[in-house]
Amino acid sequence: MPLYLGVDDTDSLRGMCTTFLATELVRALSEWDLIGYPRLVRLNPNIPWKTRGNGAICLRIGKGRGAGFRVGSIDGGDVFAYERGTETAPSEGIAAIAARVVERWSALEDPTTNPGLVLLRKPPPPGLYWRAVRDVVRKRDALRAIRGLGLRREWKNGRGVIGAAAAAAWRPRDRTYEVLAYREPSRWGTPREISATSVRGLDARFPSTFNNYDPDDDRVVITPRTPCPVLCGIRGDDPQELPAALASLGGERPARWLVFETNQGTDDHVLRDPRAARPWTTIQVSGTVLREPRTLPGGHVVFPLRWREPIDVLAYEPSKGFRAVVRALAAGDSVRVVGAIRTTPRSLNLEKIEVLRLAPVLRPAGNPPCTACGRRMKSSGRGAPYRCRRCGTTRPRSDAVLLESPRQIAPGRYEPPVGSRRHIAMPLKRLPRTR
Ligand SMILES: [Zn+2]
Repeated sequence: MPLYLGVDDTDSLRGMCTTFLATELVRALSEWDLIGYPRLVRLNPNIPWKTRGNGAICLRIGKGRGAGFRVGSIDGGDVFAYERGTETAPSEGIAAIAARVVERWSALEDPTTNPGLVLLRKPPPPGLYWRAVRDVVRKRDALRAIRGLGLRREWKNGRGVIGAAAAAAWRPRDRTYEVLAYREPSRWGTPREISATSVRGLDARFPSTFNNYDPDDDRVVITPRTPCPVLCGIRGDDPQELPAALASLGGERPARWLVFETNQGTDDHVLRDPRAARPWTTIQVSGTVLREPRTLPGGHVVFPLRWREPIDVLAYEPSKGFRAVVRALAAGDSVRVVGAIRTTPRSLNLEKIEVLRLAPVLRPAGNPPCTACGRRMKSSGRGAPYRCRRCGTTRPRSDAVLLESPRQIAPGRYEPPVGSRRHIAMPLKRLPRTR
């Protein structure tokens, strides 16, 4: 079994990127081989103290056996990984090399950055990953899970060991890949030279890729909006396609690139049992829309859903066009929603919605005809029965003529535009592959 090297919480909110640090680790540990793809593991996106994407990394290292396959390129040299490796023991030497890289590339001056590193002879129990991706893990629980498995290093409060250990504990049930490309240091902070036209064509050229381009917003999504070393990241289901997809973009040549195996786009964070719902968890529930949605100041859209008890479901302003779907709901509609639980105010932040059944929406279309003489009857006041002016016949208010209004949505699944999705949320494009 290879060694499991996990690292987390090295980013600041506006600085470096943990995956760049992964390329530096690969460089510094070139004496060893990568076993399998490097891993980028996203953890619970609702954690209030998370850095940007709440992503940890895990490299499996050892001495490779058999033929290697190319997983990247760093400063002109190919990076290979191997399917299998020989047994390697965690050593102080390897931990020291990795620790130097973490110290060099972490945003240690940022008060919210608390790096941690683990070097383990085998992965911790998978339950640690599932708790870290769906809920909140305390540091002492993470430490208990890795006890006796190897070494760890901490900086400042060392909170990063939680994510580092959780990343090492990941056994993929579902997985995707991302090729991340990095810029020449001289270009860091300058505008990225990637043509929008080439990105627009990515889905057509490489059908296994996803989350490339946001047609609603006419925006390239593969490039970050921060001045970090990342040139772009292309996500997809087929790791073999990704280097070619990257090369097809033209424009700025990356100084290095690396293909990561990830839990992005898997919905791993969604609790399958909504009874386990707690603040900061993401759940999937079915229920009935209780009242017509309304738009709040700031552009958020909210509607009450009948579930265990009524709960407000919120579609935030950045979800743009997705809100139009939510606004088109009506009382009585039956929906299945995926969303994160917030405490104050208690609400569900919508991530995805499936409209299961539309309720008929009726509008009054006039007074009923007289049952005796056929003449249209008159209203005799709010709440009072209809009355025929010619023969005096009455009919109750409930006999009003109602017409069914046409609806602006159809049953089906809906998701926010590419640019406002969570890294770990499964895009609808992936659904046919996994169901
Ligand atoms: Zn009449």
